Amino acid sequence: MNQPEDSAASRFRHLTTFLRERPVTGPEGHSYIGNTPRGTATHPGLPINVRVLEHIDRTVAEVVQHTREINPNAAPVPEDDADIYRWYVENTANASEAEQRRRETLEYKHQLQHAVAAGDVAVIRPHRCPECRTFGLMWDRHSQRIVCTNLECVDQDGLTTTIEFARLAHLYITARKNLRQVRAT
Ligand SMILES: [Zn+2]
Repeated sequence: MNQPEDSAASRFRHLTTFLRERPVTGPEGHSYIGNTPRGTATHPGLPINVRVLEHIDRTVAEVVQHTREINPNAAPVPEDDADIYRWYVENTANASEAEQRRRETLEYKHQLQHAVAAGDVAVIRPHRCPECRTFGLMWDRHSQRIVCTNLECVDQDGLTTTIEFARLAHLYITARKNLRQVRAT
């Protein structure tokens, strides 16, 4: 199946290729990952390839969880991680429209996360901040979060607004759906 130029799948393939070219080395090797709790906060201090490995694990876990939720009889998970999104679509093809929308949202969230994991943080900027509607969003390497740079855009405690990837993805997919409906009428 042909993938669009910029998609969760193409971004993910880029990451897994990156990892194959720079395997985890050193005394702890891959076993380091095995002793690390999964799905928790990122660890900016770790070598890039270890962080990418963790990121890939989380990605696959999220896709598998949603697929099995929709379709308990889903085919076995593909051995090649890079095939995970093809598998996701194939095994949720008969899901309700709402679930398909959830799938699109997760895919778009991953598309952004894969890009950031590969260092392509420019993917954040084109999204408006959901709180102040400006184009002030950027990736903050230090906190490893999406923050709004608009100085007037702060939370109740006066702290910089941070936005979750999932929220950006939800807004993007909802807006795209509405746009399609407008065009169709
Ligand atoms: Zn803002």
